[in-house]
Amino acid sequence: MKFYSTNNPNLKVDLKEAVTQGLAPDNGLYMPEYIPVLPKEFFDTIDTKSFQEIAFTVAKNIIGDDVPADELKRIVDHTIQFDAPVVEVDDHAYALELFHGPTLAFKDFGARFMSQLLGYFARQQKQEIVILVATSGDTGSAVANGFLGVKGTKVIVLYPSGKVSDIQEKQFTTLGQNVTALEIDGTFDDCQRLVKEAFLDDVLRKKYFLTSANSINIARLIPQSFYYFYAYAQMKDKAKDLVFSIPSGNFGNLTGGLLAQRMGLPIRKFIATTNVNDVVPEYLRTNVFAPRPSQQTISNAMDVGNPSNFARMLDLFQNDFTKLSADIAGYSFSDDETRAAMRHVFASTEYILDPHGAIGYLGLIKYLEEQGEDVTGIFLETAHPAKFKEVVDDTLGKSIDIPKPLQHFLQQSKKSIALKSDYTSFKDFLLNTL
Ligand SMILES: *Cc1c(COP(=O)(O)O)cnc(C)c1O
Repeated sequence: MKFYSTNNPNLKVDLKEAVTQGLAPDNGLYMPEYIPVLPKEFFDTIDTKSFQEIAFTVAKNIIGDDVPADELKRIVDHTIQFDAPVVEVDDHAYALELFHGPTLAFKDFGARFMSQLLGYFARQQKQEIVILVATSGDTGSAVANGFLGVKGTKVIVLYPSGKVSDIQEKQFTTLGQNVTALEIDGTFDDCQRLVKEAFLDDVLRKKYFLTSANSINIARLIPQSFYYFYAYAQMKDKAKDLVFSIPSGNFGNLTGGLLAQRMGLPIRKFIATTNVNDVVPEYLRTNVFAPRPSQQTISNAMDVGNPSNFARMLDLFQNDFTKLSADIAGYSFSDDETRAAMRHVFASTEYILDPHGAIGYLGLIKYLEEQGEDVTGIFLETAHPAKFKEVVDDTLGKSIDIPKPLQHFLQQSKKSIALKSDYTSFKDFLLNTL
């Protein structure tokens, strides 16, 4: 399979280049040259297959022979080490729980798959692959945990000192091995600037094989289609059309669903739900895409003002607004509405939504009310509520339990290297320690 840039369909590269580059040289996003439809027998028997078996078929369908089948099987099996159950929340809504991985958020799927794939490429070459990742919290923990112990790779996580939650910080500063955490005296934007500058630095690029692990990487997108198939497999005997509501920020999760649909998965409708950062729902109403600075909300992993995967969404619909808006509905919700939904669902069912999943739930309910369709509605629950314990406790008026994996992180002691936010300090650090 070749991958082309959304800015230029003639710029095509192989999988290794697409994955190690992340962003195309023309700033486009990589997309598979074509998306093969899976055979009818696959869907007929999907409910007899395991999550790992389903994921392997889907991965092979997109990646083809660029990775040998036995190696791809190993990569997929390593990625899918935890379940993604569909849970009935109330009469109208099922939750697809994507938070059973090591860092308790759906980003584990993308990060684990990508780390194994890069590990495979690292073994084909002598030079070590160095992954630079700037994080405001969640990405850093998923990526660091995904790459932990992967031979031939080294991860440098840059995070703004004092600006990530305690739980988040512990998830990438306590690992050791091939993961180093740099605590930058600055903001998230400073961290991102340092990483960008390093990629443009000829001295560093000559010396090291640098790559980024940001969310636009095609290796993070592909595994985000797996669980849509697995949800369908779990719901197959319900025999109604499926609609998926996806709480969104950069829209990688939703784009994974679109890939699944293109591979033949029967999905009636996608519901794009956001917090007040509603650039995409607004686009779906008006056909005007107007990125703007993000606003802070309680669903902070979705505080995105210029969603990076929007280019992929447009590309999948050949820039046809009519087609795109026929397949995707959009809604946005305030923090007050989010908290009210969390309280209502807990009071009526005892199910604890995290603030992101609550937005997915709200979008689903609103869609069902407006459309009155007889469909099965699934919203994606993207994080465990304990990851946002302060907000959840405060909203529900009770102290929720912290699951074992998080407790484990909290008990470890933090190891980080403090650095100033100027580029010279960062560059010196890389040259002296890598
Ligand atoms: C990253 C994230 C999202 C948003 O996903 P996108 O793919 O960026 O749309 C939603 N919820 C949680 C918990 C996240 O970490």
